[in-house]
Amino acid sequence: ENDLRRAIDRDEFVVHYQPIIRMPTGETACMEALVRWQHPIYGLLSPAQFIPIAEETGMIVQIGRMVLEAACREAVAWNVGREPDKLVKVSVNISPRQFRDPGLVESVESVLTGSGLVPGLLFLDLTESLIVEDEERVKETLQRLKRHGVRLAVDDFGIGYSSLGALRSFPVNVVKIDRMFVSGIESNRQDAVMLAGIIDLAHAMNLRVVAEGVETAGERDQLRAMGCDLAQGYLFARPLPASEIPMMV
Ligand code: C2E
Ligand code: MG
Repeated sequence: ENDLRRAIDRDEFVVHYQPIIRMPTGETACMEALVRWQHPIYGLLSPAQFIPIAEETGMIVQIGRMVLEAACREAVAWNVGREPDKLVKVSVNISPRQFRDPGLVESVESVLTGSGLVPGLLFLDLTESLIVEDEERVKETLQRLKRHGVRLAVDDFGIGYSSLGALRSFPVNVVKIDRMFVSGIESNRQDAVMLAGIIDLAHAMNLRVVAEGVETAGERDQLRAMGCDLAQGYLFARPLPASEIPMMV
């Protein structure tokens, strides 16, 4: 906790980016911002090693703001000189604590203004648990973000308790299907049938679908046959430092 506090002052966080691929064409549609901590002694730490502490102590609000700033700044740079229909979006994870912070909407607004990023190019990845709680305040915050033109995605869909039915009353644009479902489709017929069903239902509700954690060409081909819109995973690329992204884009 002390280290983490110091890390904020010393600016020890780095943001890596992982492409999200448009299924039929293989083009990069979006980059997901994934934070790492360049610890002076332990080296590069993954989010699993510090996000829970940041979440518990509330430091996630500050860290999240830095990630948002970096991601929006980078996204503006990737898109310089690109054609309007080829613009690359950026998605940023928002934890439950960040989402409930009263300053969230203003913070997003000021980062967008400061960076000059078109709001429609920013996706916020929200955890499924936020959608389950049928809270008016959650809906209100989502509506405010939506009014600013920011897009919303439900992350890790399928492992929590939210249903597609519950999603109907929330203004989300995208569902990201958890890797757990994707990794079973090659070996387990039932997993494949279920995933195909989720994709069809999501489409019926006008939602786009991202499959997370695609590791094999077989998974990719099945997902494509199911009509899955977008995919992310080691098969395409691992999360990469910001300096390697422009070339990739
Ligand atoms: P997530 O949002 O579900 O992000 C996807 C995670 O899956 C990333 O882990 C990514 O590296 C990993 N991944 C991508 N493709 C594959 C694959 O093909 N196979 C496997 N096994 N894994 C794959 P990472 O970077 O360790 O991040 C873990 C989680 O930490 C994220 O899960 C997200 O919930 C959280 N996180 C990361 N950055 C931030 C942030 O800036 N703010 C907040 N609040 N949470 C963050
Ligand atoms: Mg995510």
